Amino acid sequence: MSAAGNKLLVGLIGAGIQRSLSPAMHEEEARHHGLRLHYQLIDLDLNGATPEHLQPLLAAARVMGFAGLNITYPCKQAVIPLLDELSPQAQAMGAVNTVVIDGGRLVGHNTDGSGWAWGFQRALPDADLGCVVLLGAGGAGSAIVDAVLGLGAAQLRLVDTDPARAQVLADELNRRFPFRVSAQGDADQALQGATGLIHATPTGMAKLPGLPLAAELLRPSLWVSEVVYVPIETELLKAARALGCPTMDGGTMAVGQAVGAFELFTGLKADAVRMEQHFRQLLEHRRT
Ligand code: NAD
Repeated sequence: MSAAGNKLLVGLIGAGIQRSLSPAMHEEEARHHGLRLHYQLIDLDLNGATPEHLQPLLAAARVMGFAGLNITYPCKQAVIPLLDELSPQAQAMGAVNTVVIDGGRLVGHNTDGSGWAWGFQRALPDADLGCVVLLGAGGAGSAIVDAVLGLGAAQLRLVDTDPARAQVLADELNRRFPFRVSAQGDADQALQGATGLIHATPTGMAKLPGLPLAAELLRPSLWVSEVVYVPIETELLKAARALGCPTMDGGTMAVGQAVGAFELFTGLKADAVRMEQHFRQLLEHRRT
């Protein structure tokens, strides 16, 4: 924690982040710990900035005494060469969503995967991990794959509209988790005999409505984990729930990654259940 004792300055660097719930989540959890935490949004879109400006922004954060920064689209990979050290998770994922500034050193972490795992164990504790399909091998998908294999997924099938991307990720994972991961041509083929589906494409977001796969491919025995959380109730979740599939919305991962980041920034144990309740209240407030 900062030299100022119970005062902490943190923030988020990304593009189009004005509606982020991270400031409210972090500041409220800090309040419960008697900590005065300010969470600053550093929105590249508001200043005509690009990931090229990351270096001066990180230098400024260091000078201004920031304890850390969350990093989001489009900077999660671009930030890596600018850091002094990476956690093993961030190294494995090739992406950073949290930077801790400690004694002037910038250390990159990734709490997206652990955040997803926290939400998954909470929302779907009895889920069968025999054969899991991941749709979307981009940023969110790459963070989740390590977590789901770490939780014991016996088989993981990757599907992406960019097949090369799924293949590269499968090859990389098979080096660390031999014979457990394959890239598949399409969702139809991948879902044959699958026990669960993780959806990690942007389809279903408010600005990209719709279903990422044919609704007929869903069946009641399949659990469905959604990463999209704006809106919280996506068309995929609606279709899966209508069939009776066990489901998890994208909110639990959003909370889980914030819990991990809060603990890294402050060195304190966050009350994850309290943070989730607050997050759900914020969403409800937004809806009304
Ligand atoms: P990304 O662009 O890095 O990756 C998306 C991938 O999906 C790409 O590889 C793309 O080719 C693929 N794709 C797109 N449509 C597809 C389809 N119909 N079938 C198969 N593959 C398809 O995006 P991202 O950063 O991974 O973000 C994906 C979503 O996850 C966004 O909605 C983002 O907001 C959300 N997200 C949520 C959390 C959370 O905490 N819940 C965290 C990170 C990202």
